[in-house]
Order: sequence, then C-alpha cells, then structure tokens
Amino acid sequence: MDPFDVNSPRKILERVSTLLGCSQTSNEVATYLDNHDELKHLREQFLLPKVAELPPSDLTLVDGTKECIYFVGNSLGLQPKMAKKYIDEELDKWAKMGVHGHVQGSRPWAWAENNIEGLMANVVGAKAEEVALMNGLTVNLHILLLSFYKPTAKRHKILLEDKAFPSDNYAVECQIQLKGYDPKQSMLLMKARPGEEVLRTEDILDTIEKEGDSIAVLFDMATISNAGQNKGCYVGFDCAHAVGNAELKLHDWGVDFACWCSYKYVNSGAGGLAGAFIHEKNACTVKPALTGWWGHDLKTRFRVDNEMDLLPGISGFRLSNQPILLVCPLQASLEVTGPSLGFSYRFHTPHKPHVHIITPSHPEERGCQLSLSFSVPIAAVFQELEKRGVAVSESVFLLNVVHKCIYVLFIVSISPLPR
Ligand SMILES: *Cc1c(COP(=O)(O)O)cnc(C)c1O
Repeated sequence: MDPFDVNSPRKILERVSTLLGCSQTSNEVATYLDNHDELKHLREQFLLPKVAELPPSDLTLVDGTKECIYFVGNSLGLQPKMAKKYIDEELDKWAKMGVHGHVQGSRPWAWAENNIEGLMANVVGAKAEEVALMNGLTVNLHILLLSFYKPTAKRHKILLEDKAFPSDNYAVECQIQLKGYDPKQSMLLMKARPGEEVLRTEDILDTIEKEGDSIAVLFDMATISNAGQNKGCYVGFDCAHAVGNAELKLHDWGVDFACWCSYKYVNSGAGGLAGAFIHEKNACTVKPALTGWWGHDLKTRFRVDNEMDLLPGISGFRLSNQPILLVCPLQASLEVTGPSLGFSYRFHTPHKPHVHIITPSHPEERGCQLSLSFSVPIAAVFQELEKRGVAVSESVFLLNVVHKCIYVLFIVSISPLPR
C-alpha cells in the first residue's frame, strides 16, 4: 500500500483527528471509526463473550455485563449465531429420520460439505473443485506431503520457516523420515536476519536460487511460488493464519498445494473441518497416496462395487464421510465470511513501556493481525489488558511473539517432476 494513498490507515487517522479536533489516539477517533465501519453489521452475526464470563481477573476496570474485546481470533474465532440453529436442525433430522438424513433435507449428510466448498473457495481465491473440506489441518498436511514429497538422492529437501508451528515442524520431520531420509540433511530451515523478526521475501528467493533443489510471514506468495517452480519445486503453503485474515488468490498465484484450519479466522469452532487445496494444473498428475470411498465419484459412490472411480485433484484425497456436525458451524461462518478486507488500524506505540510492532506495516502484508513485542514481561501486559475486558491469552501472545507475524508457513517440496 502506498503510504501517500488518501485511504491508507495513517491518512484516515489524520483526517478523522483533524475533523474531530483531537489527538489520533483519543477515544473520539476510535468511536468515530467504529460508527463509520462498513463492516460493523458483521459483528451482529457473532456471539461475543461477556467480560464477567471470562476467567476472573482481580481488578476488572470495566462493567462485567459488557461484551469483551476479542483479540484471539488467531487461536479460536467467535461462534457464529447461526451455528447452533444449524446443528440443532441436523440433530432433529437424525432423531426424526435416522439414516434417511444422508440424502434428505436442506443439508443431506452425504454431500453437505460439497455445498459449502464454493464458499470456502471464495475465501482462499480458488475454484470450488480445487478445494476440499475434510479432516484436521495436520492430517491434511500429511496427506498432501505424502503425494507431493517424492524425494530422490538429488532432490530430497523441504524448505520451511525456522520455528514453524510445532505441528508443521513435526509433520515435515516425520514425512522426511517416512521416506527414509534424515531431517538433519533434508529439512532446510529459513531464519530471519539477526535483529529482525520477520523473514524477508528477498532472502527466501535467494535461498531458492542458491539451494535450487531445496526451501517460509505473509510473503509475496505469487513471487515465491514462481521462483520455486522455476527451479522445479512444488510450492505449498500452510495458510492457517492467513485464511479469513488476508486476501488469498491461491489459484491465480499458481500455488501447487495448500492446507488450513477453519477454527481461527474462519470461526468454525474448536477442531473444525479443515481445508485443502490442489491447483487444477496438478489435478491429473498428483494422485492421493491414501484412498477411501469419499474420493470416489459421488454419482457412483454408493454402488459399492469396489471399482474405484477416483475424482481428480483434491476431491480424490477425501477418505471418509464428513462429520455433519462440523459442517454446520462452518457453513454458518462461511455464509458471513468473505475474503478479508484487512485490519486497518494503526497501533500507536506509547513511549513507555516500549512496544514494537513485529508485523509489516502494510495491511496487505499482515492481513488483520498485528503482532507486538513488549519491553516488559508479557504477563504484566496480559493482566492489564484482561482488567480492561480484552480477551487475550498469554500463550497466544507468546505464540505470536514466537511466530512473529501472520506468516504463512511455506514449504517447497522438492520433488522430481513429471508436471
Ligand atoms: C493452528 C495451526 C495448526 C494446528 O493444527 P491442527 O491440526 O488444526 O491441530 C497447525 N499449523 C499451523 C501453522 C497453525 O497455525
């Protein structure tokens, strides 16, 4: 974003504070921005915990009957109001018609997830047939790597961000071992420059160039995909912190594969149905390593003749029938979720204690997330926020400090290519 853009967060703050004749950090400015927020109606679609319902804090400075300020969507998003209604509908249907619910009603269990894959595809910038809703994130990462990571003596490395989310780290380590290679040799970890918190795209591109055969912030995913693919690599992203947060165009950027969870910025509830993506260009060449009946063409799936008619692309990677009770809250959320417009509030750093903004200043590079590091122990900051009715979690804070930014973990699976 151009800092001189009249609609940049900084310019908007300048204009509003001039208009109101007060400082940019005053409550009036915040209230004005809230009242003029084009998306504020969306808040009505979600249930916000009341301050008094949160774990007790000794000295609450705000009225307990007020809704909290919820800053933990990066860990667990809020409950969409329609979630309970949809779940109740399916519980009722199950009670009333039992097995017939598979094919009856507005949400037939046997293909209910297919009805919302288009909505999810809009959020990640993909075609509906490039997206599957299934399993959990780590499971999807495993089944994708099983197919995309086919190491050879010459090409056996996976490049990923140093200190990636633990589950991603374990999955990559395990996939390397599963193929008989040693993670010490085959796992290439990208570190930020000394004194810097966020990896630079240029350094990633440099590593791709140098390592050629081997390679993770919301980086320029298009550029990285392109650079990796020019070297004959598959490029995949874990979009857990990007989906529903920043605008994604997985199809247009030519990303080979991707996976994400839906319970963070997509608000599907703890353990919600995860997503996976395989670009259509790989639909015929990359086959699932593991198959199940849900990968079989729906038209003939229930003939049960044991002749596999595998669906192309990601659809063929589906193993089991999907949990309808997880489809319901995800549907409730996707009906009100579009591609994120980004969080456009400029954080003002007070002089003491010192606060450092880790995420990039351009909204397009950080989506709606700001990660901050503090010069004082995080527990003290956490306590003060809690007293003011802000839902945060210390561990989430710590996690964000570890993760530094709204990163997208980046994996280049170095595979010999028939592409
Ligand atoms: C949240 C998150 C996970 C969690 O994995 P699950 O399989 O959903 O438990 C994994 N990786 C990343 C990058 C995450 O942000």
